[in-house]
Amino acid sequence: MVSSHQNQFQFDNTYSTLPERFYARLNPTPVQKPSLIKINRLLANHMGLDSNFLETSTGINILAGNQVPVGAKPIAMAYAGHQFGGWVPQLGDGRAILLGEVITPDGCRYDLHLKGSGQTPFSRNGDGRAWVGPVLREYIVSEAMAALGIPTTRALAAINTGETVMRESQFPGAVLARVASSHIRVGTFQYFSARKDLDALRILSNHIIKRHYPEAEKSSNPYITLLESVIEKQYKLIAKWMSVGFIHGVMNTDNMSIAGDTIDYGPCAFMDNYHPGKVFSSIDQMGRYAYGNQPLIAQWNLSCFASAILPLIDKNEDAAIETATDRLNCFPEQYESAWNSNFRAKIGLLEKKEGDSNLAKDLLSCMSENNADFTLTFRQLSKLSKDKDQSSEILDKKFTSLFENQSAVEAWLLKWRERLNLDNCSDTERQKAMLSVNPAYIPRNHRIEEIILAALEGNFSPFEKLNDILSRPFEEQVENIKFQKPPLPEEIVRETFCGT
Ligand code: AMP
Ligand code: MG
Repeated sequence: MVSSHQNQFQFDNTYSTLPERFYARLNPTPVQKPSLIKINRLLANHMGLDSNFLETSTGINILAGNQVPVGAKPIAMAYAGHQFGGWVPQLGDGRAILLGEVITPDGCRYDLHLKGSGQTPFSRNGDGRAWVGPVLREYIVSEAMAALGIPTTRALAAINTGETVMRESQFPGAVLARVASSHIRVGTFQYFSARKDLDALRILSNHIIKRHYPEAEKSSNPYITLLESVIEKQYKLIAKWMSVGFIHGVMNTDNMSIAGDTIDYGPCAFMDNYHPGKVFSSIDQMGRYAYGNQPLIAQWNLSCFASAILPLIDKNEDAAIETATDRLNCFPEQYESAWNSNFRAKIGLLEKKEGDSNLAKDLLSCMSENNADFTLTFRQLSKLSKDKDQSSEILDKKFTSLFENQSAVEAWLLKWRERLNLDNCSDTERQKAMLSVNPAYIPRNHRIEEIILAALEGNFSPFEKLNDILSRPFEEQVENIKFQKPPLPEEIVRETFCGT
């Protein structure tokens, strides 16, 4: 008998009505002994789901993949992609299943997706599973990104599988129930483009337009508008990543969402001390996906997207290339403008003036030369006053002491204060604005490491606590000040590992 609660998932599946060559139909592989790590109650509420039900054994069985809810049409999606620049003609969901699309009470559509849900026809040699470390990392970081106001997939739940997963050694297995505005990637387009399947490209593009970019339907050439819209989402997204010191770590084309969400959290990391060349991913030996390369890589990935839809842009290939190139060439300027506006806000400049961007860049250079912590620099700067007087001295000192060579940053502060005086804005007003864009709390690597180590001992309270702190990143939270701090030398995490 079907429990009435099961019907609470308002599924309206559209991707699984697309042609069969877009996916493989299969159910998640059941796990031995599912138990709850965490339900994201706020997100569940937003989605119109009853979190009390999700915490029952039926709910947990659904989130673990042991039971398919009424209305779901489970599939593993096909896609291809460039991994570290090398072409892979077939990737696809090798350890994930899309249960279906859920409609929320306010009419939003979200993919409900299980990651770590067992092998699929796309698993190649993988076991289709995930262990608790990457699941908690994705949970924490994706939720932190959402709280920072950055477009991202979300974590609805984390479940223990009661099984072990073999990696460097045996680890406890877990499943992440992930929610996204969709899971369609640049690599999904490349999959069909490589097969010269023009019909599929048109179907996929029309699906995306209807779902994410309905305004393109009205355009004289919807596919050019689609390209422009995807470019716009990406330059805005990357400019946001840069403004919080986020490094995705594996910006392969299969990990770039067409809807413009941050997707596929693997060896991602937030920087502690600022350096544009920062890389954490253990597999990124050449630094292809270093912090400072992210805008360039985004443009490269977008050019792969544009190449895939060229035949839709114009039947005449030369004309299509010209149009696409023209749009792609706008990316650096558009990105720069989004970057400027984010960093102008970060340093508290309200009116747009010539030289603002250089002022922000000078601060970044000074930070990188002096090993200053990215997050704390902007947070402490937010508390300074426009005029240097006795009362400001303690705060000034707190700020300059973040830099190895304090006189260099003192010179910058002088220039900054001169510039602030050109804006017609009180200290209180400016500080409030700055504190609302410069977070106090980010998911620092050493804290993530800490929660994973505790989880391996069966203790999930550090995970709960960190998740709670990061849900209010712009609040001072005096009781949690130690979580604002960068790692001690012995706590520094230099390498992060992919989520496999
Ligand atoms: P990602 O690292 O998430 O970008 O994954 C790259 C590709 O490897 C995707 O096709 C994944 O589905 C696949 N993959 C990663 N881990 C596993 C695994 N444990 N089992 C099967 N496939 C996997
Ligand atoms: Mg991926």
